[in-house]
Amino acid sequence: MVAVNGWQQRRSIRARARAAELAAAYSHYDAGDLLRVMIEEAFAGDLAIASSFGAEAVALLALAAEIDPAVPVLFLDTGKLFPETVAYRDDVVAHLGLTDVRVVAPDILDVAAVDTSGDLWSRQAGACCYLRKVVPLVQAVTPFSAWVTGRKRYQGDGRRALAPIEASDGWVKINPLAAWTKQDVFGLIARRGLPKHPLLAQGYLSIGCQPCTRPVTALEDERDGRWAGQDKTECGIHTLERPTGTSGSARNINQPHPQP
Ligand code: SF4
Repeated sequence: MVAVNGWQQRRSIRARARAAELAAAYSHYDAGDLLRVMIEEAFAGDLAIASSFGAEAVALLALAAEIDPAVPVLFLDTGKLFPETVAYRDDVVAHLGLTDVRVVAPDILDVAAVDTSGDLWSRQAGACCYLRKVVPLVQAVTPFSAWVTGRKRYQGDGRRALAPIEASDGWVKINPLAAWTKQDVFGLIARRGLPKHPLLAQGYLSIGCQPCTRPVTALEDERDGRWAGQDKTECGIHTLERPTGTSGSARNINQPHPQP
């Protein structure tokens, strides 16, 4: 975990208290109702949705758009995405009528300093995710008290105990689909006629950056196609871990938690 200072500690204490209070009141709500309470009441104007616009993302975005199409949606463009994902994002935005999709990208000076040759992913995937995902995401969510993710318990070991509402590094994090099954997700996509990610048909069931994603077979879990052959299973945006060996030369790498 990144080093914390007094401001971060106070923010973390507040987030933990708020998350506990909200969890006691709303954890039993279904996904749509939980999202509605969070967007319209608990964090009105103070919440964003983080979306990869991956294989399943459209389900959560459809629920959110139904409540408020102007809710801020943060799209992390690492510079290493499949072109199909960027095109799909535009299709989904148009289909759902989302009006506040914010493209979040790594600082070009940080990339120039830390990933000069653009292949950091092949040598230090943890450092690459930190540079291209964690730091820009932290900066993007800093103005908000809460953010929403599309994670589900069925997605693997690290997510099996996922709570609908949790505190994480100073934010309240809402996971409305935590208890959903894959059938729930694709059932909603089918019922509503939502656009499907074009790479789904090629066996990509969990879609991240192009160099670190491959299709999976019927015998594999969907996330087996992410960082295949490595111990790495998460990009770090949900733990904010700073990988060992990360270069300290980039400005944002040294200041992952900007203060207000
Ligand atoms: S998923 Fe791969 S390319 Fe994308 S930020 Fe992480 S290591 Fe880099």
